[in-house]
Amino acid sequence: MKIDSHLHVYPELKSFFIENESHGNTTSKFKKIFRKIIIPYNTTLHLLQEKSRLLPEKYIPYSDRLIALFGTVPTLVDSTESSLLYQMDKNNLDAAVVIAHPPFISNEFVLKLSKKHKSIIPIVNIEKNELDPAEVLERYIVSSGARGLKIHPAADGFKSDDEHYHKLLKIADQYKLPVIIHTGCIHIKPFYKDPELGHVHHYESWFEMYPNCKFILAHMNYHYPSEAISLLKKYENVYADTSWQPIEVIKEAIDTLGSDKLMFGSDWPLVGENITYCLSHVEKLLERNQITSEQYENLMGLTAKKIFIGD
Ligand SMILES: [Zn+2]
Repeated sequence: MKIDSHLHVYPELKSFFIENESHGNTTSKFKKIFRKIIIPYNTTLHLLQEKSRLLPEKYIPYSDRLIALFGTVPTLVDSTESSLLYQMDKNNLDAAVVIAHPPFISNEFVLKLSKKHKSIIPIVNIEKNELDPAEVLERYIVSSGARGLKIHPAADGFKSDDEHYHKLLKIADQYKLPVIIHTGCIHIKPFYKDPELGHVHHYESWFEMYPNCKFILAHMNYHYPSEAISLLKKYENVYADTSWQPIEVIKEAIDTLGSDKLMFGSDWPLVGENITYCLSHVEKLLERNQITSEQYENLMGLTAKKIFIGD
């Protein structure tokens, strides 16, 4: 079983000039050519992103911004529902955990997609201006089939003790809902109002306060994965996805923790063709006999299946 445990899908607006889907599902010639030429571009961006953590600390914010800027190009062209279905088919994915990011990607849009495609697991993100966030989240769980909650304090600019998050976490705890937290200090203002809030250590108190929630540390704390690895080791209810992590870090995390707490994730469509690139990390680890076939299966989908679908 292969599950991508972290991705996004954008509404059609961005590809309006590229492809008019009201005339059927045929992929435009432009998009087909684009998909061919974009692969080396994306691979180069990924390599640069993985190496950027080796730069002196003061240069990291600049490299974060440059990578985000260049990564916008493929996202603008190839990021919609039809693109996701193409990528899932190409990469033999059985399921995809699709995360809302309102106002750009609304909860309703993601929930609707999951009604249309059984293989899509919808994760909601309740906006900070919601007057009764607990009521909204409960409604999404009970009536609309939401399978997880995303919390993105770096984008919201809210601290971990904010009432908004605690109202949501109480409901998540009550329903044993998985909670994906954005982790990683990525300097891309104004998209992230306060990048520093991405550091994983801000959220440690949540892991004890809400023991029925399974917390997934998205991106494994990005530039500083060792902090995430030690929290994964310390708390039974803490997991992580592998998005944006180089192959050596994935290997180190498995050596330290085993594979029960780790799941493959790509953060597609950011930087475009990255499902294939991220999958290649896990494939290589198996080919080189650096992980066992059981660890490979857990990483590829079984851990995500346990969390988002159930045994
Ligand atoms: Zn993401």
